Amino acid sequence: MAFAQTKGSAAMQAYVRNNVRYLNQLLDESDQWAGAQAKAEEQAERDVGDWELFEKLAAGGPCTCVKGRATGTCAWRKAVDEFLERNKVTIDRQELAASLRRIVVEGAKKTTRVPLLVGPRNSGKTTYFDPVDQVFGYENVLHKPALGSNFALANMRQRGKRFLYWDDYRPVEFAATGTVDVPTFLSLFQSDFVEIKVSQSFQDGNSDMAWLHGACMTAKDHELWKLIPPIKDKVPVTAECIHHMQGRVEQFTARVSLEQGGRVLRDVPKCKESFCKLIVEDSTAFALREVPSAVPPATPSDAAAAGDGADQTTGLGVTGFANLMRNAKIPPLAAAQLLQDGRAT
Ligand SMILES: [Zn+2]
Repeated sequence: MAFAQTKGSAAMQAYVRNNVRYLNQLLDESDQWAGAQAKAEEQAERDVGDWELFEKLAAGGPCTCVKGRATGTCAWRKAVDEFLERNKVTIDRQELAASLRRIVVEGAKKTTRVPLLVGPRNSGKTTYFDPVDQVFGYENVLHKPALGSNFALANMRQRGKRFLYWDDYRPVEFAATGTVDVPTFLSLFQSDFVEIKVSQSFQDGNSDMAWLHGACMTAKDHELWKLIPPIKDKVPVTAECIHHMQGRVEQFTARVSLEQGGRVLRDVPKCKESFCKLIVEDSTAFALREVPSAVPPATPSDAAAAGDGADQTTGLGVTGFANLMRNAKIPPLAAAQLLQDGRAT
């Protein structure tokens, strides 16, 4: 307006003077016009299914964090591969990726538990899951509520939320303080309705909602599932409660921290393209492992890990062994060890 008054032509000044009342509206409309394209793209993104989004990003070209880098390596992927390598004794990376894939596709259910990545401080567990914020957009992710909040799940009511990521979560503590009590935790992670408490300032009051999208959590390993003393005026959390909550998660535990090495993982960039690629690759390798022995495993290392085809001369016997290990839910690495032990004796 100042520009029109001082520098505008006479015609422009007259126009502004006559339409001053409508200028704001015109400016708003021109903003909307300019934002329409971005909105359309955002909507298109939203119309893509949650898992389709992973596949789409995985299929794209080189990741954004590699572009313009001299080395051509993705810093996120490097850090995460190192994390998985350091912890391969306790974490089956393909199983972890498959767990995330399943819950993104199906949502949390009785049969689809929430992947929970546990480990010591600075182990890399958060680095692994952090890119979900970029995959879905930070504002579309339901983050961990503040401990002690009376309206812990109020954000579930916001439109567009399509993934739940609780980083550094402590289920027992959040339950004992009544922030996310045990019944709420159990219902939330099996797609049952939960009561969403909101502040009195909302006209429409509390409501019931079910969480139908994917979810994942990280936690520090220290005393994670330990009983804590009851808190005054709060419902105590019993050992049985803890047992039930554990039943809603699929825990993967890292044991190795980077503390001694002195490196800090905080600065690793979040890379959504590499993250999606890793989840698609690893979960696909896991799915191939479950196929009967007629289909060869994806890579030689899969074969070794699963025990499949390790002995070509007794295909049937080895297949039987692999199936037995799967049915008994023995982790592949342990199974491979058992197979080796069996042969040695
Ligand atoms: Zn990258």
